[in-house]
Amino acid sequence: MTQPLSSKAIVIGSGFGGLSAAVRMQAAGYQVTLLEKRHQLGGRAGVFQRKGYRIDTGPTIVTPPFVVEDVFRDVGRDPAEYIELVPIHPHYRLHYEDGTHFDIGSTEEIVEQIKQISPDDVKGFYKWHKILKPIYELGFEQFATTPFESLWSMAKVIPPGIRLKSYKSVYGLVASNMKNNHLRMAFSFLPLFIGGNPFTTTSVYSLIAYLESEYGMLWVRGGTHRLVEALERLFKELGGTIKLNSEVTKIEVDDKERKVTGVRTKDGEYYPTEIVVSNADVAMTYMSLIDSKYRKKNSDRRYKKAKYSMSLFMIYFGTKKTYPKIPHHNIIFSARYKELVKDIFERHILPDDFAIYLHVPTRTDPELAPKGCETFYACVPVTHQDSGIDWEQMKEPFRDKVLQFLNDKYLPGLLDNLEVCEVFTPLDFETEFNAYKGNAFQLQPLLMQSGYFRPHNRSRDIKGLYIVGAGTHPGGGVPSAFLSGKISTDLIFEDYGKPNEETSVE
Ligand SMILES: Cc1cc2nc3c(=O)[nH]c(=O)nc-3n(C[C@H](O)[C@H](O)[C@H](O)COP(=O)(O)OP(=O)(O)OC[C@H]3O[C@@H](n4cnc5c(N)ncnc54)[C@H](O)[C@@H]3O)c2cc1C
Repeated sequence: MTQPLSSKAIVIGSGFGGLSAAVRMQAAGYQVTLLEKRHQLGGRAGVFQRKGYRIDTGPTIVTPPFVVEDVFRDVGRDPAEYIELVPIHPHYRLHYEDGTHFDIGSTEEIVEQIKQISPDDVKGFYKWHKILKPIYELGFEQFATTPFESLWSMAKVIPPGIRLKSYKSVYGLVASNMKNNHLRMAFSFLPLFIGGNPFTTTSVYSLIAYLESEYGMLWVRGGTHRLVEALERLFKELGGTIKLNSEVTKIEVDDKERKVTGVRTKDGEYYPTEIVVSNADVAMTYMSLIDSKYRKKNSDRRYKKAKYSMSLFMIYFGTKKTYPKIPHHNIIFSARYKELVKDIFERHILPDDFAIYLHVPTRTDPELAPKGCETFYACVPVTHQDSGIDWEQMKEPFRDKVLQFLNDKYLPGLLDNLEVCEVFTPLDFETEFNAYKGNAFQLQPLLMQSGYFRPHNRSRDIKGLYIVGAGTHPGGGVPSAFLSGKISTDLIFEDYGKPNEETSVE
């Protein structure tokens, strides 16, 4: 263990990875300064208010709850004093092209519906459902909670992985158990929630289905940004410092020892420190914040060649009428599934059709809109910036096309009742979050980009640099961002100790 010269530490970026790391370090006695590029904290979990509508811009589902609550508990606080988690039922409604729908809820409710549409698949559903628990035990309990710093550590999980068929994709595992196409879609689309292609994402990620079935779909009362506000409150109570509108442009490194010496921001500030936790996009952290002479020779090539998640086209809107029959979470499938996913992930084109995740938070929290009104977002997965699409030019026609579709099929009168409407495109992901290629979830969750093969929590190039957030292990999504905050800070405590436990520092 090395003792740092001072207890100052810098966290770059305030997504859930950055915020949870900042809280843990500050509680351990570090003097943490959190530098955030944007005008608000939370990264993808942002919020804005217009004409009485409060619209959360990012994640909407929290599961499992203990991962989020642990950051409060681990620093001696009761999570219930900071956030309220509310179960949503049904978890979500899946809408198909033929006008039918399927509700994901309890196992019994699911089986009742399978009996109606494809009785022959009941047995296969149970078979698939049974394998989810061991997948969770491997993928979550063994894989997602520890760092993978050596090939050996990865090798240990390979035999159980093979036994659980992790060489299959999420879709492949479902399809080998169920025949009905709608059911195959229903139980395989979940990787899209963390930026993965269901046809190439390893079936280990079927653990998301287990988490939902075991812990339910939880909603942060008042919207996910309330969780950001809770972490901000906790961090400030612990004495941490936050600087908004502070974009880091350089991580300074000592020539001889290859260790962090400080960071510089766009507005010319310099912060000396030996410990930097980067929650900025991982590719951008290495390719643009660190001088290439301090990185491995093939570092740029590796990040340029890596496979990134898709981007999203977001429409945030409020209506001066309500749609009480539409549940809180809705997935609207296109008639094409595999080919649409291919257009997004492989062909990098914007096809004529699209799928939509339609979020209606006012179904649970009516006060997020003025009385008698409704708050929504439509989240359309689209290809990342390798497409070359000019979003400045495309954003209005594409927005109009999606809204017209919703007006005609799901939300009658929508166009006549719109009061608020804002759009966020892949170009905005690139410029607002400094996300490489405008990705929405950083690197795809492929087997060869997971665990040891994902950028490490503790930098191998530079001493004192740690990565948190969706770009490092264990990956994309809210729980993973929180887990990365714990994994990376545990590594810091291992390397530098905890200033408030001075005796443990040699
Ligand atoms: C629309 C949408 C819906 C989603 N829904 C869900 C969901 O329901 N459930 C779920 O689990 N996950 C969901 N996700 C994914 C989840 O939101 C993310 O994976 C997770 O929040 C990412 O957290 P993070 O720690 O990686 O940080 P991010 O949220 O990516 O934040 C990184 C922060 O770093 C800042 N930054 C970048 N560069 C710099 C710099 N140079 N200097 C200073 N600051 C910098 C950025 O401005 C940003 O604030 C969703 C994502 C989106 C976009």
